[in-house]
Amino acid sequence: MKYIEVAPGPRSFQQSHLASCSSSEARCLIERQHALEYGVLPLRVFDDGFGRRTVSFVFDDGKSQVEIIEKLKYLTSAEVEVEGYKEKSLYKSVILAYLQDQYSARNNLLEEVLYLSWALDASDFHFMPAAEEIDFKLRVNGEMVSSYYFAPNLNFGVDSYQEMLRRLKNLASLDLTEHNLPQEGACSFECDLFKVRLRLSIIPGKFGPYLSVRLIGVGEFSSSESLEFSRLGFNFSQSSCVRREIEKNNGVILFTGPTGSGKSTALQACLKHLSGEQQRIVSVEDPVERELEGVTQIEVDLGRMRSYCDYLPVILRQDPDIIGIGEIRDRDSARFVFEAGSTGHLVLSGMHAESVVSAMMRLLDFGLTTNRLLSSINLVVNQRLVLANCQHCLDEELGADQMRKFFRLSEHDKTYVSRGCKSCSWSGHGGRVPVYDLVEGAKLHAIIQGISNGSPPRVLSRPIGIYESLRKLIVTGTIAPKEALKSVGLD
Ligand SMILES: [Zn+2]
Repeated sequence: MKYIEVAPGPRSFQQSHLASCSSSEARCLIERQHALEYGVLPLRVFDDGFGRRTVSFVFDDGKSQVEIIEKLKYLTSAEVEVEGYKEKSLYKSVILAYLQDQYSARNNLLEEVLYLSWALDASDFHFMPAAEEIDFKLRVNGEMVSSYYFAPNLNFGVDSYQEMLRRLKNLASLDLTEHNLPQEGACSFECDLFKVRLRLSIIPGKFGPYLSVRLIGVGEFSSSESLEFSRLGFNFSQSSCVRREIEKNNGVILFTGPTGSGKSTALQACLKHLSGEQQRIVSVEDPVERELEGVTQIEVDLGRMRSYCDYLPVILRQDPDIIGIGEIRDRDSARFVFEAGSTGHLVLSGMHAESVVSAMMRLLDFGLTTNRLLSSINLVVNQRLVLANCQHCLDEELGADQMRKFFRLSEHDKTYVSRGCKSCSWSGHGGRVPVYDLVEGAKLHAIIQGISNGSPPRVLSRPIGIYESLRKLIVTGTIAPKEALKSVGLD
């Protein structure tokens, strides 16, 4: 019995690698629904020259074989051979393999799109109608990729797109007759393979409505183990700083960064870490992304409540010690966070901001006073997720002088880039790694005071923690210099 070797690589592309071992000839002999039911991926068809056929399969490690082999023999009218076992992600490979085949997605476009997103660990997908066709892209590992790359035969027209939109609007209880105004909503989708929560945004466009969907509960940073505090990737001093701050019983801790920098994962991991303690935790989210045991989660409904601040008395009646607020987006939510943080509660919140300085500037713009900020804010975490190198195809690269100078690399420091190989599907990518800058105490006060005096001290504006982490990741080959520069906006 031969085992198929699947080299460890980036998760989303590793699956597509196993999927690419499957031949369409073998898939013709067994339908996808049966492959999923029996937990098998068809690989190859052999002919012995006397008209006797054998089909080989990769089996799911957890399934009992004898019975399934008999069923497969019956379904394929051929001999069956086991070519290997795989427990993790076999089902994702089955989905990706069958998406290579020609079929019509007229009636089930939504299912096919969600299967593909799940199999790739995509965080979002987008439909963008243009003059000639409808463009369909997914965000995988933080990068936008065309669906064509993974599902070349996923054909759909305007009708099936419209039908999918209607189904989504229905699931999210949106107005089906509204075509001229933007709409937002959330809903859940469940099938045998996975359960996912969807957050929709629909806006009218010249050639039809644009649809953007955020997938919550799938993706590389959404498994429950990724919510472990110890897996957030803080170094020793950062980890002890965060632990010290989240153990205080009042004040505000902010998680800041651009879109897709892992803010809500860090925030939720801290809440989860605290939920084991003898404290009451209430979290206000828009929407609830993941269920957290031991945390009372309230979903914002701004249709019924007038504003975020209307929730404050409701939450305070729940007698919380710690309050989590998904994101500060406006004056209202900023006021909410700082009022709660200055009345004997510890508040953890997220905020979209490139840097600590820009986060503080926005809070002042939202009408908070300098004194309120100085007295309430304990810690600001600024973070990024950086695309990592595939470790199977690392190649040394000298790197530009400017970059070497910027990251203070010595002449002995080597830098690396991935050239692309089979295990990363020639993308060179190997998942993403987080980097952090933590600002607290006197430095944070100096920044806030600097801004209110007209100019924050330049030397304090540099995210030193992020630069230091990037430097270490560059010289160990974990990331390429190009990605490091991109993550700090210097590409
Ligand atoms: Zn590679």
